[in-house]
Amino acid sequence: MLRRRPQLRSIMALMVVMAFVTPSLPALGQKTSPVAPARAQVEAVVREAYEKFKNDTSGKNADYIPYLAHVDSKLFGIAIVTTDNQSLTLGDVDYSFSIQSISKVFSQALAMEEFGPDKVFDKVGSEPTGRAFNSVFAVADMPTHTGNAYVNAGAIATVSLISGKTPDEKWNKILDFYSRVAGEKLKLIDEVYKSEAATNTGNKALSMLLAKYDRIYADPFESVDVYTKQCSVGVNVTQLARMGATLANNGKNPATGEQVIKPENIPHILSTMIMAGLYDGSGSWAWHVGLPAKSGVGGGIVAVVPGKGAIAVFAPPLDEAGNSVKAQKVIQLVANRLDFNLFSPRSVGLKSD
Ligand code: GLN
Repeated sequence: MLRRRPQLRSIMALMVVMAFVTPSLPALGQKTSPVAPARAQVEAVVREAYEKFKNDTSGKNADYIPYLAHVDSKLFGIAIVTTDNQSLTLGDVDYSFSIQSISKVFSQALAMEEFGPDKVFDKVGSEPTGRAFNSVFAVADMPTHTGNAYVNAGAIATVSLISGKTPDEKWNKILDFYSRVAGEKLKLIDEVYKSEAATNTGNKALSMLLAKYDRIYADPFESVDVYTKQCSVGVNVTQLARMGATLANNGKNPATGEQVIKPENIPHILSTMIMAGLYDGSGSWAWHVGLPAKSGVGGGIVAVVPGKGAIAVFAPPLDEAGNSVKAQKVIQLVANRLDFNLFSPRSVGLKSD
């Protein structure tokens, strides 16, 4: 005992020194934004949202892809990653779920990396469809037929643009690109892919309809197959938040420092997210939340706060439009409390008296 005392004393001395040299917790995203909220405040709001909604059972798992019907509907995870690479996570943050339609954002980004925004706008466009994400009526009715890159038809057309001699070459390019955006190697969830590939007759029909209008730029069925694989990529909620943070950080991954997406393409991506990220729920989302976001029928939603970071939430039960119910509620609460709404002057620090 006695002999341990000097050791104890030096540990205590070290603790005293550390108390002075350890800086207080930095504000989230402070390096890039002077109006980022303090970390403790963000933690409190995220915990409040988690507690408030964890027992919310509204909505229903997607079941048109058989695998998704069997995912535990109680899974619930929240992650925030900031542009200065801080992270904050709560709940089921290690569970790997299928990215589904959130992938469409990153294939649109890849197509722009390859061909520039003008060509992607010309070949796919960016107009709201006012219809469900898998609507054949939208393809028939809209002047562009493709609508935008976030409905299935526009997403399949986008994938068909990606260069590659074979479908496998395109797929590997897509997976590698997503991994660089996430800052970690991502993988296909094979059971999701098989389950969706066995049942995706609707998407095949969309691709044939696009061919009729000359709005698909590679073999229609091969393009649907690559698209189905991209939707079956597994992400956990932290990886998804980091993908969003790369968008928030002007295309530079905050963890790896790699400039994955050209900064000049970011506004095109975020504007499409505002306009169509939650399908025919996008208008209501812009009204209530005011953040670019993207949902997937796997239960994920990621919302981007430009310059500050991203919040991703995973909870499988969906509303009628195909958007996770709990994820929408959590992001809305957090965004409102922390003044993230981009259309509010408060988001840049202007307060009313
Ligand atoms: N893979 C899904 C589909 O093609 C993606 C849809 C979604 O997430 N909204 O139907």
